Amino acid sequence: MKFADLGLSPELLQAVESAGYTEPTPIQAEAIPQVQMMRDLIAIAQTGTGKTASFVLPMIDILANGRRRARMPRSLILEPTRELAMQVSENFEKYGKNHDLKMALLIGGVQMGDQVKALDEGVDVLIATPGRLMDLFERGKIMLNGCDLLVIDEADRMLDMGFIPDIEFICEKLPTPRQTLLFSATMPPPIKKLADKFLDNPKRIEV
Ligand code: AMP
Repeated sequence: MKFADLGLSPELLQAVESAGYTEPTPIQAEAIPQVQMMRDLIAIAQTGTGKTASFVLPMIDILANGRRRARMPRSLILEPTRELAMQVSENFEKYGKNHDLKMALLIGGVQMGDQVKALDEGVDVLIATPGRLMDLFERGKIMLNGCDLLVIDEADRMLDMGFIPDIEFICEKLPTPRQTLLFSATMPPPIKKLADKFLDNPKRIEV
């Protein structure tokens, strides 16, 4: 299997090539077609498997079509920690370098002013930790009803950190129908319950 067989745009193939990747990893080969088909997805995959690109690449293709609106992000990636959110945003920049997509990184420990300014200008993808996202939502700085593509990454770490109630709160503010992708290294019962509640007929992938 080659990246070119995955139906990614020439711009994305160029970005992948310049990242130095020759072949998709197993999670990428399995997950990318499902995301492109707009399926919900549960992917059981550890860090190090190439899971980030398995959602970032098809998201860029999806977001390349469509228009930005102020304070109404079009997609959301939830991460348990600032460090992971920063890593995902670096991936988004690397793979999205040939696209005009706006990203906002909403993490704690950073002043809200720049984050609010980015939201006001309109963003295609929000990469956020739950706490800061809820804070901005409760201050009325952000609307979530345009976010019809959601990634819950490292779901089992979210559970360990006590973020499940926040994720439920956020999911309830998102529109339906939407596409939801859940990534987790393990599937403890509370994560299974979360998936049952918020995913629609998900395809399950395990690598
Ligand atoms: P992740 O599991 O998303 O944290 O990715 C682990 C590492 O694999 C990162 O350093 C990526 O840059 C790298 N990587 C992702 N996709 C590929 C690929 N198709 N071929 C080689 N390396 C990759």
